[in-house]
Amino acid sequence: MDSAMPIIDETAIQATLEAGRVSDSVRVREILARARDLAGLEPGDVSALAGISDPELLGELFDTARWVKERIYGRRLVLFAPLYISNLCTNDCAYCAFRKRNKLVKRRALTQEEISQEVRFLVEQGHKRVLLVAGEAYPKEGFSYVLNSIETIYATHSGPGEIRRVNVNVAPMTVQEFRELAAAGIGTYQVFQETYHRETYRSVHLSGPKRDYDWRIDAPDRAMEAGINDVGIGVLFGMADWRFEILALLQHIGHLEERFGVGPHTISVPRLEPAVGSDLAEHPPRPVCDVDFRKIVAILRLTIPYTGIIMSTRENPNIRRETFALGVSQISAGSRTNPGGYEEDEKYASQFSLGDHRTLDEVVRDVADLGYLPSFCTACYRLGRTGADFMDLARPGDIRRHCDPNGFATFEEYLQDYATPGTREAGERAILDAVERMPPDVRRTSEKMLSEVRDGQRDVFC
Ligand code: SAM
Ligand code: SF4
Repeated sequence: MDSAMPIIDETAIQATLEAGRVSDSVRVREILARARDLAGLEPGDVSALAGISDPELLGELFDTARWVKERIYGRRLVLFAPLYISNLCTNDCAYCAFRKRNKLVKRRALTQEEISQEVRFLVEQGHKRVLLVAGEAYPKEGFSYVLNSIETIYATHSGPGEIRRVNVNVAPMTVQEFRELAAAGIGTYQVFQETYHRETYRSVHLSGPKRDYDWRIDAPDRAMEAGINDVGIGVLFGMADWRFEILALLQHIGHLEERFGVGPHTISVPRLEPAVGSDLAEHPPRPVCDVDFRKIVAILRLTIPYTGIIMSTRENPNIRRETFALGVSQISAGSRTNPGGYEEDEKYASQFSLGDHRTLDEVVRDVADLGYLPSFCTACYRLGRTGADFMDLARPGDIRRHCDPNGFATFEEYLQDYATPGTREAGERAILDAVERMPPDVRRTSEKMLSEVRDGQRDVFC
């Protein structure tokens, strides 16, 4: 990376924030009208929207975000589960229970057999996508531990199910290691900068390789250089001013778009949650209240309309429900954040506290009752529709010809194989209602694929 061209320009961000401090209703309404063109927004627009406090304008911001979400994603919500394979860590991130100096956590790296058991549990719940998560220290085989674990996950089958996409959230690595990760057949590589504010970053990453801000912010570049087309980035909200963070996030996205012709596949928006042995997590220095959190999701939806937004089970069911409408496209469900947590529950301390403890079946039913369509689709990356190819289909709206039928088919598969009777009833109702509202060609494809699944075929996708 050219050190003369830093990815984040803090002075420019501060100037944009300053300029956006006074924003009148005429300007806000002009920005919201423009957002409906689905072409994204500029940093100055973001700063103006971030400054909204008038309840009426806030309502208009949320209405616009709902409109954009519906236009681009319809009612689909993609579901996944995190799979924590190890909590060994060499870093000392002040907010995390896994940090090296925390003696309150029992350390554990799952064996391949234990990983396989966890995967069987998830598959038997109906999951098709997992996010592999680990601290930054591997057992004696080193980085191969991650590669072996991915192989184990893909090789584990139970009944009619298997995991069809493994996304990965592990420490940044070299280009060569990223190449090996790509060759292992991963979906998305995720790495959150945590905070883009350099001084804050330094004050919370006390020791270990993660203390190097630049090594981390360059990780998506190295991943893309190595051929990983789908990268996920994010901010851990609660450490620096959220307005600064979202403007910095946009600079990061702009940098990736300029260099690779495509930005990140997903954005994650975790807020700091209490974690065993962490005062910082218990008392975030710049907490983000629920209203601002909803604003963050809405503003991101308008600004980067085609980038997926992920909401984890850190948040409680109510906040999750509200943000589905505002722009979230992927959610985790039935999660545990401790290695071995699915088989043995809370025997080993978790990374942070969860806000949503419901099972996958309960989440699916709730989502369907709200009129959304849970999707377990993994078609795009298996058909090579990733990176710029994905965005080329997404921008003109063509991706929905694939996403909607694939969403229906994978949801039907879930309902047939795993759902409780009440969930199946709610799900069939949601499918029926949604299929009827599809354009004729999408409806025909969807009905064909649905009847194939009902006839017993599995892994039907287009
Ligand atoms: N160890 C690797 C790393 O830090 O990049 C990857 C996995 S780490 C377990 C995954 C993410 O958990 C971190 O990037 C951080 O954003 C999040 N996290 C850590 N502590 C948290 C807390 N107290 N509340 C919410 N999220 C937290
Ligand atoms: Fe380790 Fe990641 Fe936790 Fe930091 S956030 S202590 S690197 S597991």
